Amino acid sequence: MGWQSRIEAALTEQHRTAAYRRRVPLSGGNQRQLVHEGQTCLNFSGNDYLGLSRHPAVVAAWQRGAAEHGVGSGGSGHVTGYSEVHQRFEQRLADWQGYPRALLFISGFAANQALLAALLQPEDRVLADRLSHASLLEAALHAPCSLRRFAHNDAAALSRLLAKPVSGETLVVTEGVFSMDGDAAPLKALAADAQAHRAWLLVDDAHGIGVVGEQGAGSCRAQGVRPDLLVLTFGKAFGVSGAAVLCDDATAEFLLQRARHLIYSTAMPAAQVCALDAALTALIEGDALRDRLQQHIRRFREGVAGLPLQLAASATAIQPLIVGENQAALDLAAGLRARGIWASAIRPPTVPPGSARLRLTLTAAHQPGDIDTLLEALHAACG
Ligand SMILES: *Cc1c(COP(=O)(O)O)cnc(C)c1O
Repeated sequence: MGWQSRIEAALTEQHRTAAYRRRVPLSGGNQRQLVHEGQTCLNFSGNDYLGLSRHPAVVAAWQRGAAEHGVGSGGSGHVTGYSEVHQRFEQRLADWQGYPRALLFISGFAANQALLAALLQPEDRVLADRLSHASLLEAALHAPCSLRRFAHNDAAALSRLLAKPVSGETLVVTEGVFSMDGDAAPLKALAADAQAHRAWLLVDDAHGIGVVGEQGAGSCRAQGVRPDLLVLTFGKAFGVSGAAVLCDDATAEFLLQRARHLIYSTAMPAAQVCALDAALTALIEGDALRDRLQQHIRRFREGVAGLPLQLAASATAIQPLIVGENQAALDLAAGLRARGIWASAIRPPTVPPGSARLRLTLTAAHQPGDIDTLLEALHAACG
């Protein structure tokens, strides 16, 4: 068939199913507002839930860090890329979350891929919530072990799978707050199930950290559980990027021997670690930001009642409106765009077939009037 025709056939298929993905170049700061081709829109699609990407102390910390340490780390952490700045921040993260160790990764995607690839052997199994992030499910598919998905947030379904014998080890995988639905996992029940079967629990709290729990300590602290492996990502409420795996001492040492994304990749720049350190301080002290976000969530959920759209059961910054068909979701996004609202349509395979949606996100950077503008635009676009 040839490379060219294979690629063209794939693109044609993407068009046919209204699944074609495009990036659009934005400007204007990409925070509360963004600018697209000269049009200023209110941004309801970002993950910067507390607005920390523009926090003066975080920006200043990155600038000072760059002046002091340069902008690149110069190598893998196993060679010269790991500094005392990295070491101090890893320890601070570990102490904050109550783990012996934290290991920094360049992204959440890399952390999840590295973890699963390093840990799993052919006789093992992964039992994952079926709505887990692609970085987890794809890592499990590529690992030599077996993968079974359990019904979303269904601890009883997990129990049934756990009851089946396995010759190797079992890793249970879930998210703290689900990225496309905004709902919370029943972590207490999942952790009890896993523990009863001597399985390990991995929680990816990309969307819970900073937003949920006292001082933004995340979904696990809020629900009183301590998973064996906790993945935090810094591209959302931290407002920066990168990730960390929290675990015990031996597991950290094991990952340093086996996690290829750590060994064969340039370490995070120290200047970025300085920004993360400042972001962690702002996040811990960010109760006022979290209160503001909760007020926006309440305002939105009250105002959206009565619209002919399915609102997900979410108490978090992620407030998806489930539309159904791909084209309908694209049309609604376009209708909002015409009214100055930026809201991305999310389609399969990111979400299950037939559940295309607008993934609306609210942030502390929004103003109450922004939420009202969004609601007016939704009523007009649906009316
Ligand atoms: C965003 C996200 C990731 C990926 O993190 P990056 O740092 O953006 O690579 C992983 N897991 C979940 C649940 C996410 O939402």
